Amino acid sequence: MLEITHLNVWYGAAQALFDVSLTVGRGELVVLQGLNGAGKSTLLQAIMGLSPHATGTICYQKKSILGLEPHTIARLGLGYVPEDRRLFSGLTVQENLHIAARIQRAERAGGAVLSIHARQEQVLALFPALKNMLGRKAAHMSGGEQQMLSIARTLMTSPALLLLDEPCEGIAPVLVEAIRDALLHLKGTGMPMLVAEQNAILSSRADRVITLVAGQIANTP
Ligand code: ATP
Repeated sequence: MLEITHLNVWYGAAQALFDVSLTVGRGELVVLQGLNGAGKSTLLQAIMGLSPHATGTICYQKKSILGLEPHTIARLGLGYVPEDRRLFSGLTVQENLHIAARIQRAERAGGAVLSIHARQEQVLALFPALKNMLGRKAAHMSGGEQQMLSIARTLMTSPALLLLDEPCEGIAPVLVEAIRDALLHLKGTGMPMLVAEQNAILSSRADRVITLVAGQIANTP
């Protein structure tokens, strides 16, 4: 579904990614490993159209998306959970979920568009801990709870492919387990995912593990 070839990304004069090629196929979990500064976030941002300067090709469903605006890419079905979560901290859990639902992918290939309520039921089934917090402001949640909300919020847009940037980083172990279980459940439903992580939480269950070192792919998956 996602095919990246010979991707190079720069921040000003500094090149951050070098000739990166990878694919994420239908239903695949692909894990992107690498140390701090290896380029994991840069790669996910480039896919979402958030890079200042990128060359190469990025195709989603055989359509070139390099150069498209981030909101256009999101509407095509790519759901992105950034490392910094970007929640509306002054809004409640429920409000965060509903705002996201309004930017749902306009068309679902071959499927019915679910109501906001039905989608909320689905994501709350995945993250039951959020059920008791619907009225709580995001600012008053722990880091792990915010991370669950961030993933849940992205799922409210009915993505067809999920990009997650370090979803388990800096989170209490019990919530790491809950997030890992939820992501593996999603994998079981056939959701394709590209997940950046440093701590090998999901890599043992990945279809492929790609290692980035200093902006380059270091292994041949
Ligand atoms: P981390 O886990 O620390 O987020 P990462 O693997 O995601 O690391 P990136 O954040 O993609 O790595 O960083 C890749 C390289 O690009 C690093 O050398 C970093 O300093 C540089 N970089 C990242 N963001 C910017 C920016 N906005 N401006 C300039 N350089 C940047």
